Amino acid sequence: MRPIQRLLIANRGEIACRIIRTAKTMGIATVAVHSQADAQALHLELAHTAVNLGGNTPEESYLQIEKIIAAAKSTNADAIHPGYGFLAENADFARAVEAAGLIFIGPSASAIEAMGSKSAAKSLMERAGVPLVPGYHGQDQSLERFQQAAESIGYPVLLKASAGGGGRGMQVVESQAELAEAFDSAKREAKAAFGNDHMLLEKYVLQPRHVEVQIVADTHGNYIYLAERDCSIQRRHQKVVEEAPAPGIDPALRQAMGEAAVRAAQAVNYVNAGTVEFLLDSSGEFYFMEMNTRLQVEHPVTELITNTDLVAWQIAIAQGGTLPLCQDQVTLHGHAMEVRLYAEDPDNDFLPAAGQLSLYREPALGPGQRIDSGVREGDAVSPFYDPMVAKLIAWGETREESRLRLLHLLKQTHISGVKTNVAFLQRILAQPSFAKGYVHTGFIEEHTTDLFTPNQPLPPLFWQLAGAAWILSSPPQISFEDPHSPWAAASGWRNGSAREAKLRFNLNDEVHSVTVDAATLHNTHWRENMLRYQEDNQQRELCAIRTPQQLHLQWKETLYTLTLVDPISQATTEHIAGGLTAPMSGSIVKVAVEVGQPVDAGDLLVIVEAMKMEHSIRATEAGVVKAIFCAQGDMVSEGTILVEMEPNS
Ligand code: ADP
Ligand code: ADP
Ligand code: MG
Repeated sequence: MRPIQRLLIANRGEIACRIIRTAKTMGIATVAVHSQADAQALHLELAHTAVNLGGNTPEESYLQIEKIIAAAKSTNADAIHPGYGFLAENADFARAVEAAGLIFIGPSASAIEAMGSKSAAKSLMERAGVPLVPGYHGQDQSLERFQQAAESIGYPVLLKASAGGGGRGMQVVESQAELAEAFDSAKREAKAAFGNDHMLLEKYVLQPRHVEVQIVADTHGNYIYLAERDCSIQRRHQKVVEEAPAPGIDPALRQAMGEAAVRAAQAVNYVNAGTVEFLLDSSGEFYFMEMNTRLQVEHPVTELITNTDLVAWQIAIAQGGTLPLCQDQVTLHGHAMEVRLYAEDPDNDFLPAAGQLSLYREPALGPGQRIDSGVREGDAVSPFYDPMVAKLIAWGETREESRLRLLHLLKQTHISGVKTNVAFLQRILAQPSFAKGYVHTGFIEEHTTDLFTPNQPLPPLFWQLAGAAWILSSPPQISFEDPHSPWAAASGWRNGSAREAKLRFNLNDEVHSVTVDAATLHNTHWRENMLRYQEDNQQRELCAIRTPQQLHLQWKETLYTLTLVDPISQATTEHIAGGLTAPMSGSIVKVAVEVGQPVDAGDLLVIVEAMKMEHSIRATEAGVVKAIFCAQGDMVSEGTILVEMEPNS
């Protein structure tokens, strides 16, 4: 036994946070490492110690093997957890960690190496009796050999980079005519992305499911499988929704897949947690795809149905401990589902998004709900790293219960400043075929009309409610002594006073004018983050979060961020001959100048209060105040001339 006292986590984001959490519960001190770009990141705050690796790109920071090992040495860490991504499947790293006398929390370098090449792994699996997708994974890399293999398997086929990962390095080929060109471009891509252009070829299975098995092995030769996960909902061959157990898998198939996965692991003397990925076709046949020799992004769904903490198991195994369960003791409870919250734009081909999370509100957790996140409000989503910001996970007695709990979590997750897939994920979960468990890897393409945002203008009701929400959520600037005033309402709900109001909003760089009618204002109430209104004699609620500068209003699954176009600053630029006018009705809060006073362009003249907001009217050019037509406390109506200027000539 080699007890671990201090653990360095060679990763960032949600997985670094998640590992730190478990280490703390085990009484293990934690060391975070970070790049310059991550100097304010959440994982540093959670760890006991943090070491700056410098640099911004992964190559300059999280992939710097020597710097990471030096950080472990200088902080007296005795073990390193690689998380997933980055160095997690890098055999050189595992070897360097061991060589430095530290514990690597993961499999041996040789097991990582054996599974690192998809081609070599398939040859190994063939010998271990694990079923493979029909294909070619030999050494002969000539076009002729690939053509011949494709002919004998039958089109369509899939070209895959042997060193590929993260859904990259794959190309579907429909016919012999396309093969030569696809082969060349796939090799070029693989060379650029992975520094290695070794290819393999597989039958392209139509509408398969991605079903993978979690295995765990200790250093004493014990192996178990912890059921399977379905990760069929994918975009760009990358997982978006994952669940356990896989819908519709019977105990016999579970056992067959589980035992095949254990055989795969045993073939490379695997130790620690790993995942064997299979394709499951519509006839119930399954085929080995690859083995991921690390903790998987989607491990929480397995934890929730098996009541385990896989990170705790990983640490215990690395210390030399024995698996706490044997296969017969593994029992499954209920169902769990996870969604990956990505900073990306589903409506623009899932383009990754970067920027500041000006609004980031996670819901309070109820029973069976879990959030693994790596960010907080105000944090930046950096363009240097993977755009996944959080995982929302829900457990239920049944699949339907977990689906509804997860949907509920998503509905209460409010993010602005950076585009995310929150609305898209809600539509997936609400899609009727998904609800029935009819999933396959082409699900997103099959249901595009249900899943992507229809390009429809927002209805007038939305704009009415936006206007009402803005007015109701603006802090009152006049102090009301009157106990009957709507601001003093004991219910906490703020009611609209029934008077028409004009507002102009900026949404995605377009300006929308709204005249909130008295009836809407009267029938709308706002409290904290909620707007209540009447429609068809029914009371409805919408999420409406107000920050000083913005209103975040939800419509269907989408959170829209509106800013008010300051009507006066707009109007002053178009001042009329003879003076500056009040562009809307309001009251004069302050007159800042006197007749005869010289002013410069931009100097404050008058402050008007309207729509519970103060607006400054400023001189548009240098000159002298010729006349003032208002005084503090006056109510003025739109178009009234307030100040007349004599410009310098
Ligand atoms: P999985 O099967 O768990 O999705 P993949 O092989 O698709 O694993 O990729 C590994 C995971 O590592 C990805 O899901 C991705 O989120 C993460 N990852 C890959 N590259 C990076 C990176 N540069 N930074 C952070 N995370 C990364
Ligand atoms: P990566 O290392 O990028 O995760 P995988 O080999 O695991 O690569 O494949 C990623 C995804 O691509 C799978 O989950 C599946 O959706 C799809 N895929 C892979 N191989 C095939 C195949 N032979 N037929 C159909 N789809 C496939
Ligand atoms: Mg994979």
